[in-house]
This record gives sequence, C-alpha cells and structure tokens, in this order.
Amino acid sequence: MAILIDGKALAAKVKDEVAEDAALLRERGIVPCLTVILVGEDSGSQIYVRNKKKACEENGIASRSFELPENTSESRILELVSELNADPTVDGILIQQPLPKHLDPVRLMESVDPKKDVDCLTYDSCGRLMSGRPYFLPCTPAGIMRMLLEYNISVSGKNCVVVGRSGIVGRPMAMMLLWQNGTVTVCHSKTKDLAAECRRADILIVATGKRDLVTADMVKDGCVVIDVGMNRDENGKLHGDVDFVNVEKKAYAITPVPGGVGPMTIAMLLKNTISAAKMRSEQKKQ
Ligand code: NDP
Repeated sequence: MAILIDGKALAAKVKDEVAEDAALLRERGIVPCLTVILVGEDSGSQIYVRNKKKACEENGIASRSFELPENTSESRILELVSELNADPTVDGILIQQPLPKHLDPVRLMESVDPKKDVDCLTYDSCGRLMSGRPYFLPCTPAGIMRMLLEYNISVSGKNCVVVGRSGIVGRPMAMMLLWQNGTVTVCHSKTKDLAAECRRADILIVATGKRDLVTADMVKDGCVVIDVGMNRDENGKLHGDVDFVNVEKKAYAITPVPGGVGPMTIAMLLKNTISAAKMRSEQKKQ
C-alpha cells in the first residue's frame, strides 16, 4: 500500500503558518490583503472566489472582491487594476479566469504589478521563475513542492516526468523540479510513447484533465505519483488523471483526488499573499 499524501492535512498546516504570519504582520500595522476581480456570472468562478474569500477570512487575511457585470469594458478593468496596483493597503491582485470573450486575458494579467501578482501569471513572474529569482511561486506547483518536502521525498537526481505543459501547472512545475536538481521530462499530447516516458519516472506529476490517463502499467514500482487532474463525472464526483485504485498498488506514495493537490493550491495562494505583505512591511521600514 502506498503512502497517501494528505493534501488536506498539509493545507491545514500551511494555513496555520499563514494565520501566525498574518497575526505578526497585523501587530506591525500591516493587514495582509488579497483582492479578487470577477467579471460576469460564471458559477464555477463565483464558487472559487467565495472559497478564496473564506480561506482569507479564516486565516487573518483581509479580502476584497470586485464583482463586475459581464459587459464591463476592458478599460474599466484596467483602471481598477491600476488603482489596486497603486493602493498601498493591497498586497495581492487576482483576476479570476475564465473571462468573458470580449476581454483580452493576457492584456489584463499583464497590467498587474508583478509584486502583487500572487497567482504568478505575468510575463515578469514567469521570467523571474525561469531565472530562479521569483517574488512568488505559482500556487499549484508550489503546493506540490511543499508536499514532496513534507513527505521527505527528495527531488535531486531523480527522474521527474511531468505530463502536461500548461502555463499554470506543467511548465512552471518542470522549472521548479529543475531548480531542485531533478532530471526533468515534460510530456504532452504529441508525446510519442507516453507510457514509456512515465515508466522512467521516479516522480510522476500528471496534469492533463484526462480522467484515468495514467494506468498501472505506465508506472514503475516504487514511484511517487502526484495527480493534479480534476475531472467531474456526470454525478459531479471528482476524479483525477490517474487510475488511483490500481496505481496505488505499485506506488511508494500517491496523492488522492480529491484531498491531494487541490487543497494545497489555495493554501499556497494565501502564503503568497503573506509574502507580498512581508515585502510591503520591509518597504515600510526603509
Ligand atoms: P490544460 O488543458 O491547460 O493543459 C493540459 C495539458 O495536458 C496540455 O499540455 C496537453 O498537451 C496535455 N495533454 C492532454 N491530453 C494528453 C494526453 N492524452 N497525453 C499527454 N498529454 C496530454 O490544463 P491545466 O494544466 O490547466 O489543468 C490540467 C488539469 O489539472 C485539469 O484537470 C485541471 O482542472 C487541473 N488543475 C488542478 C489544480 C488543482 O489545484 N488541483 C490547479 C490547476 C489545474 P498539449 O499541450 O499538447 O495540448
């Protein structure tokens, strides 16, 4: 039986750290603050925003959300971001995706001050990550690195295979594993022999959005499997990208879905907001 990497319990620990840091900052007159911009009525996004707000409130972070109508113009949102960039009481700015079709997500993301880009999505943040000098680490990969650390799974010298190359998970994940001296392979939909690539993995990270893409014959005995996927079935039940029941029998350690990577992502967002507030606190001292 594999070790179950308990993202829920670990996220609770990270949140305790956040609450402790938030209390110390508040004593110094800094109230950490996360702002979220939501445009339109997407019900999934409304739930995410509500959850982020709740997580902030429970852990000493002030949260402000701007819920704008679907037809809000790009110039109005750019104006709001510019106000939040200039507001010294704001530490983090999130623009909830997906955005309505008439808005350019890249232009809007790029308007966020990199020192407040707690989602780590701007070109500046990506470049900083590449060069090993980030202000913040992207939340999902950062949560995964913390899981590996907490379970004493060393990355150095290991064959790390990342399946998926998106800008929010796969690519930054590969970069962070590389910074920890992993030997990294990135697979995607055009990879010739996915099973063979996965079988070489000591650490396998799967982020494709394809339910049960990775089966037991694709993993080697004793590997560590991190399942990022979130796929809902017709009954609304959540499934990962890995055939958990069978892969678990071969793995050394594995994350469940739900209760694995998901809870860590939001905890790391709070961590990033604290980091931003600490930067503000340092600036205040100067
Ligand atoms: P994207 O759709 O942006 O990227 C999916 C990636 O998977 C692409 O690079 C694609 O390749 C690759 N892929 C798709 N099919 C295959 C295949 N058959 N073989 C190999 N590679 C394949 O997804 P995201 O990265 O945004 O998200 C991935 C999953 O993770 C989703 O289920 C999402 O919901 C979940 N997620 C979970 C989070 C959490 O906190 N738990 C956070 C973020 C995402 P190509 O580039 O060639 O198209």
